[in-house]
Amino acid sequence: MKAAAALATLALAAHAAPAAAFLPGPRRALLPRLAGATTPGQVALTFDDGPSAASTPRFLRVLADHDVRATFFLLGVQAQRAPDVVRAITAAGHDVGVHGWDHRCLLRRSPRATHRDLRATRDLLHRLTGSRPCWFRPPYGVFSTASLISARRLGLTPILWSTWGFDWTESCTPGSIRRRVTGHLGNGGTILLHDSDVTTGNGAWRATLGALPGLIEDCRRRGLAVGPLPRPEAAVEAHPGVEPGPSGFAGRRTTVVKWAGEDRVPPPGFEPGLNAF
Ligand SMILES: [Zn+2]
Repeated sequence: MKAAAALATLALAAHAAPAAAFLPGPRRALLPRLAGATTPGQVALTFDDGPSAASTPRFLRVLADHDVRATFFLLGVQAQRAPDVVRAITAAGHDVGVHGWDHRCLLRRSPRATHRDLRATRDLLHRLTGSRPCWFRPPYGVFSTASLISARRLGLTPILWSTWGFDWTESCTPGSIRRRVTGHLGNGGTILLHDSDVTTGNGAWRATLGALPGLIEDCRRRGLAVGPLPRPEAAVEAHPGVEPGPSGFAGRRTTVVKWAGEDRVPPPGFEPGLNAF
């Protein structure tokens, strides 16, 4: 009985271990690429939870006005509802990534269901846009072991973010979003915003939309070029201390990981995606 309980605990720990990757401290220190590190001097602009016929086209207009391209992490169920919006996103030169079929925490999904969700979303986006997505960001930024294995099998590279706008809350304003993002903006990184309120229904995307022009201006004033996530290969090349890991989702440490001007040495024996941290 005790052995069975211990085994169950072990299985759960193995399933949930990568979830800790969402913690900003360890993530930034140990998995710079997963944490959204980009080439210094560049900042990647990313949006989650779309597409939404109500809000996404308004973001496309503001981005076009400022001549900025971004990466949109889409939900399969939303893409099915608004296929024209998906096409409009890529027609405007933006990139799309997989956010999942619906907005469920993957720790509660079986490996089989996780794989089905990711594959269905990837294939739908491929059909709608004509090109295969290469990035994967899970709902809530929470990975399960199964999701990392599936992502690898599906040719998707996991990525999170280095700064966010906290722009899903009812109380957020354009000013609060802008302050929060720029307060954690390094010399290159990945901004997380939301172009849809599909998870809350509270209309918070209006504040995000209002923050966008100022945010772009802030980045440019700091000498940062704003754009979509670079291709996964380019992201690795930007970090000479990091080599592609066995799962293809993160870097295996070779010497010292440099990110945002800081030197970080992962602990001995660290294996991306395998250790609980
Ligand atoms: Zn989301």
